[in-house]
Amino acid sequence: MPTLADIVTELETRYDPRWAESWDAVGLVCGDPSAEVRRILFAVDPVAAVADEALGWGADLIVTHHPLYLRGTTSVAATTFKGRLIHTLIKNDIALFTAHTNADVADPGVSDALARAVGLTGPLVPLMPAADDPGRGLGRIGSLPAPVPLAEFARQAARGLPATAGGLRVAGDPGRPVQRIAVSGGSGDSLLGVARAAGVDVFLTADLRHHPASEFMEADGPALIDAAHWATEWPWLADAAHHLASASAARGITVETRVSETVTDAWKTTAKCEDFT
Ligand SMILES: [Zn+2]
Repeated sequence: MPTLADIVTELETRYDPRWAESWDAVGLVCGDPSAEVRRILFAVDPVAAVADEALGWGADLIVTHHPLYLRGTTSVAATTFKGRLIHTLIKNDIALFTAHTNADVADPGVSDALARAVGLTGPLVPLMPAADDPGRGLGRIGSLPAPVPLAEFARQAARGLPATAGGLRVAGDPGRPVQRIAVSGGSGDSLLGVARAAGVDVFLTADLRHHPASEFMEADGPALIDAAHWATEWPWLADAAHHLASASAARGITVETRVSETVTDAWKTTAKCEDFT
């Protein structure tokens, strides 16, 4: 049976921690490197519902996209939800590993899985290539086999992503034809200018704010599609799990992987406002 150290090595081969942003916190959060690992749960967020799922399934390791602790802490007492989570994990011999911005810029990474989920075909290239390797980088640009109206692409993207309360928000003429699409999993505000410069027809990402989006549309930028943050990163989990299982199998190691289907997006419901008329 593989040890946690074996699995961490495999994960860090694909998601090199040196690729992570300087502000990020990736790698092993808790767990004994010599412990044996058989079952691995992949999830976007290290939250209580995911820990419960790991406990119920008998997972030895949870691999999450988002870090539990992004800034320094002086306590893991169970007086906060983070401390409680750490207690639950350690008491039940469950390790926690994070691949965050190093998974965003990997090849393939988070946005490759997102691009395929929303139906982009053919080769994918980074929207913002990494300085040291243009094959890696943030976001991806790909194409649809043929131009379709923006509204139709939005429906296709919605079908390809896991359901969330908020669904997708679309900015731009619903009838405008679109074919060349940029996507970026997670918060993509900072890539608006890059998407405009790339001359794509649509930029699909998450967490877009009013002012940047409004100014972008006023300046005739590409159409925008704003999805739930969790939904844009969730497709990566299956890719990461599949890679880990097959890379381990190639080395004669058998691990069982599972992708969490618990929706951990922060927004749980919506209410439509009345029309002014
Ligand atoms: Zn994220």
